Amino acid sequence: MSCAVMAQTLIKNVRLIDGSGNTPQSNVSILIKADTIAAILPAGSKLPAATQTLDMGGSTIMPLLVSAHTHLGLIKGNTSTAANYTEANVRRQLQQYLHYGVGTVMALGTDHPLIFPLRDLSRKDSLGGARLFTAGYGFGVQGGVPPDAFGADIFRPNTPAEAVADVQKLAALHPDFIKIWVDGNPRMQPVIYQAIINEAHKQNIKVAAHVFYLEDARNLVKDGIDLLAHSVRDKEIDNALINDMKAKGVFYIPTLSLDEYNFIYAGQPVWMNDPFFINSLEPGVWKMLNSDDYRAQQQQDQQRDAKMRAFIIAVTNLHKLDSAGVNIAMGTDSGAFPVRAQGFSEHLELQLMVEAGINPLKVITYATANGARLLGISSYEGTLAAGKKADFMVLDGDPVTDIKNTRNIIAVWKNGKKQD
Ligand SMILES: [Zn+2]
Repeated sequence: MSCAVMAQTLIKNVRLIDGSGNTPQSNVSILIKADTIAAILPAGSKLPAATQTLDMGGSTIMPLLVSAHTHLGLIKGNTSTAANYTEANVRRQLQQYLHYGVGTVMALGTDHPLIFPLRDLSRKDSLGGARLFTAGYGFGVQGGVPPDAFGADIFRPNTPAEAVADVQKLAALHPDFIKIWVDGNPRMQPVIYQAIINEAHKQNIKVAAHVFYLEDARNLVKDGIDLLAHSVRDKEIDNALINDMKAKGVFYIPTLSLDEYNFIYAGQPVWMNDPFFINSLEPGVWKMLNSDDYRAQQQQDQQRDAKMRAFIIAVTNLHKLDSAGVNIAMGTDSGAFPVRAQGFSEHLELQLMVEAGINPLKVITYATANGARLLGISSYEGTLAAGKKADFMVLDGDPVTDIKNTRNIIAVWKNGKKQD
């Protein structure tokens, strides 16, 4: 397309949160050419002529969220199983994420063969929905995690040699990451994950771990893990591990919403009747959550106190890692089970990160710029600046004053186009 006929859109009178952590600016204008931001014009700039000009009336614009720990295709109605995994279900869920302002997702280790052609379409911007990144088929343990219901494509190597061969098979499909489950029962042996990490790095692929215990986190960081994809939830993280994470640039995704879902439905969470929540759920799930049976089951859960303790330790650890300047990104484990709704969970996660004591502007950076950095897509995604994709959401209200305003989505734009 030549410049002469390229559509230009000027969006004016915007309060801009650019994702980088910069102070929000009022009265900004954004010039979009095709799918890209051509210029960010501060208040008082001489405005260029454009094909169309939109006055946003002072609404806030911020980058779309990057959720770097999700699952696709598994949930349908009240079930979570590989039997639900179809191209139509994956596409539908990518649309739901985008509708909720989540512009990029990484599915961590529960995918099936059809994900790779879809991922390739996504990279060419011809898939629709949220941008798709995938760890393909993850690495678990025979008789341990993840559950067999997630499908037979998951590798469960018994020896380091098998692990190396499995990584090579997966690497041929060019996954965006490799996922390992470490903390089930039985736990993954260190010789197995060492073999996976070493071979993945030889193939130039990063590795993410499902963790719970401090001891595993410490060993994984020592052995070169790139991403801890859950909070450490048994003990407080010590300075030795913090320093090792910083030295190696390890990323950390707290998934606080998952840990809150583990006990919150014994009562009545404040969002229970919020349409933003209800509309994010699969059919039948809201009714189940509201049923006396489910609530009683949650109240009588023998593990309830332990789960609440795990959440509190996760919050303490996030606060510590944030204060120390460790790389933090946002992810939720949404889509693994029906109670972890896709889209809503991401906004709840932002709220829980703020309630952990982190500045809202910083939380937004974790959920945008840092996620893009983790996925290696900062050149076009994660912040709003000239040369980046025109991917953003328009909000009613300022999320820096109240992070829950990220839920007041007026419009979602992707590739320079307002989505339906
Ligand atoms: Zn997960």
